[in-house]
Amino acid sequence: MSDIIHVLSEAVANQIAAGEVIQRPASVVKELMENAVDAGASAIKVVIKDAGKTLIQVVDNGCGMSEVDATVCFERHATSKIKSAKDLFAIQTCGFRGEALASMAAVAEVSVKTRRPGDELGTHIRVAGSRFELQEPVQTPPGTNFQVKNLFFNIPARRKFLKSDHTEFRHIINEFNHVVLTHPDVGFTLIHNQTEIFQLPPSNLRQRIIGVLGKAVNSYLIPLETETTLIKISGFIGKPEHAKKTYGEQFFFVNNRFIRHPYFHKAVINGYDQILAPDHIPSYFIFFETDPSKIDVNIHPSKTEVKFEDERSIWQIILASVREAIGRNNLSPSLDFSKEGVIDIPVLTKDVEVKVPDINTNPGYNPFEGENSYERDKKATPYLDDRFEGWEQLFEPASNTAVTINRNLQVKNKYILSPVKSGVMVIDQKRAHERILYERMLAAQEKQQPLAQQSLFPETISLNAADYQVCLEMLGDLEKLGFDIRDFGNNCVVVHGFPTDMNSTSAGQKLEMMVEQFKSLQGEINVGDPERIARAAAQTSAINYGKQLSDLEMQQLIDQLFACNNPNYSPSGKLIVKILELEELDNHFKE
Ligand code: ADP
Ligand code: MG
Repeated sequence: MSDIIHVLSEAVANQIAAGEVIQRPASVVKELMENAVDAGASAIKVVIKDAGKTLIQVVDNGCGMSEVDATVCFERHATSKIKSAKDLFAIQTCGFRGEALASMAAVAEVSVKTRRPGDELGTHIRVAGSRFELQEPVQTPPGTNFQVKNLFFNIPARRKFLKSDHTEFRHIINEFNHVVLTHPDVGFTLIHNQTEIFQLPPSNLRQRIIGVLGKAVNSYLIPLETETTLIKISGFIGKPEHAKKTYGEQFFFVNNRFIRHPYFHKAVINGYDQILAPDHIPSYFIFFETDPSKIDVNIHPSKTEVKFEDERSIWQIILASVREAIGRNNLSPSLDFSKEGVIDIPVLTKDVEVKVPDINTNPGYNPFEGENSYERDKKATPYLDDRFEGWEQLFEPASNTAVTINRNLQVKNKYILSPVKSGVMVIDQKRAHERILYERMLAAQEKQQPLAQQSLFPETISLNAADYQVCLEMLGDLEKLGFDIRDFGNNCVVVHGFPTDMNSTSAGQKLEMMVEQFKSLQGEINVGDPERIARAAAQTSAINYGKQLSDLEMQQLIDQLFACNNPNYSPSGKLIVKILELEELDNHFKE
């Protein structure tokens, strides 16, 4: 038998390595932008076609490369940024692994034109699938111009698994944002299919954040600044009342590198103490600066996971500085959360007379009378018959002379209680309404007869670039559900109509909430887009807790709920109806 082990060819090895470094067009954008930053560029232009599936081009005015370097840069482990292992502990650049260009060249058609400012002529090189196809001198401005075309052209399976253009472009925007936020002093432009998405002049951090996320953020940024021997923390956190239910504006950077850090995320959340609305996540843009020898950025190829030497102490420092920033801005007293669902406790003042509430007692009642207390109670309170019939009349205000048309009772403006044969039915009002709206929207979609209610005053809504992409992704399905929302370009859409079921007041706010909901549902793989959108729309427009319902509204809600295919669970699978069995109730009142 002959030996069977052989060393893989460079091209195959590069393709395997590319799997880790280049997952999608956005990875290419990130790597090329970081290289341009490392080259000391002051202006970087990113040009994308078809969400990067056709073309990704990054043009910089940085240091450029010599003819030899321009050839060598495509070799694996070719880097100008570190020389020995000890340099790993003093990294100041974005890149250092020398893998990105080799990986790209293995899975795409890459061409580079580059010239150092002092050279007269530049170099043009083309590589595809790790094969050098062309090398020639070229007239080109100082700096480097990379073009990556037909990504994954030689790995059809990978190419097939790329998502829709909207989704891939959203990933590109996210990576773009990470790089531009860490380099506010560099000017950036992003162009997609000939449309300018971002034009960010060199500026300070605050202006850069506004440039990236829209003018609205300006009103809710609180500066953060702490310096200790271990770490320096700077940046901004969002005011608590601007926290959102989904992720999207949470950024940690270490020595100007974007990282994810769930443990530090918790520290930030804890810093807000109890002042966040439930399930809300504050925005933050937090920059750590530390001695490079105190962190290990080498643990993951895409370098978004970083290990710190003393994470517990840093946790404490983050917590303290977030608290301090919030306190300094004296925010706590001016908090203005929505009052919905919150019980107002009136404050007593000295000159207000306190009234003892009226309690009606039965003066003839003798607790020691008779053997069978249940029978006795039934007699004393005739409304407590076996079906609890009429029990709710107890709670009718005396002045209400109207004949009650139902026997439902709303508790805490959250649950509807309704007596049924076997006991008491408890209905969660918000979830019930969600289910009703959801099924109606899906039905309208199936019949292809969505009913749009045209709004007299179409509302133009401006979104941030990433959310705009999400919205565009949703438009087709939204239309099927009865929304009339049109792309206006420039990160804006115009709402012309809402489904008849939905109230179109504050359409902009509702649309933003739907986008948030849709994003948060994207993790759920088993749900198709139309259902996801119907769910997001139903969740957004369902009546909320805290809304008081009239008798008629309660009755309608119950009737409509039980006309649904699945009245028991909300579209996201949460319980809507629970019956408290009479037997169960009786058990509570056993002696
Ligand atoms: P790394 O960035 O980890 O060093 P890359 O594969 O991304 O590895 O790049 C390899 C080398 O090519 C870099 O170290 C750098 O010397 C050179 N290079 C890449 N992009 C540029 C650029 N835009 N301008 C100048 N040099 C570049
Ligand atoms: Mg690099």
